Amino acid sequence: MVLNLKGFLNGGNRVIEINTTLDFTNEEFSGVRLFAKPTAVVGKVVNKADVTELSLVCSVVINKPCDRCGKETVKQLQIPINRILVSEISDDENVDLLLIENDELDLYEVCFSEILLALPMKHLCSNDCKGICPSCGKNLNEGDCGCVTKSVDPRLEALLKLLEAED
Ligand SMILES: [Zn+2]
Ligand SMILES: [Zn+2]
Repeated sequence: MVLNLKGFLNGGNRVIEINTTLDFTNEEFSGVRLFAKPTAVVGKVVNKADVTELSLVCSVVINKPCDRCGKETVKQLQIPINRILVSEISDDENVDLLLIENDELDLYEVCFSEILLALPMKHLCSNDCKGICPSCGKNLNEGDCGCVTKSVDPRLEALLKLLEAED
């Protein structure tokens, strides 16, 4: 969906309401389709005192395997997008600016890139997912596997925790 903003960026107090659906379900990431459903996008473009602001909320449904145990996991996320629309960029440092070329705002492109940036690094079936036993491969959320887990040196454990927090 492309919004035509001709004459909008520099005039009057005006509003364009946005209430649409963008379909990213065919987009693939290393061969995987992340989006389980089309994405509802609601918000508006408001021009006030010569500042044009885009504010949207994208309701995203992501379906992919849990990063720890591999179980297919559906997550619903509300991703806000807030940008000041400008016809030229003089301040490269300001990441809130969005350059509008030819008076056109491609909602699909904007929402898609913003959503990808906003997706959480970890996709977990639950925050306390126990993952898979490294010895036997059993999903530990379904019960203990009975493997003997060696006790880890506390100093090494601290290091492991640090590594886990990093990835
Ligand atoms: Zn899991
Ligand atoms: Zn085991």
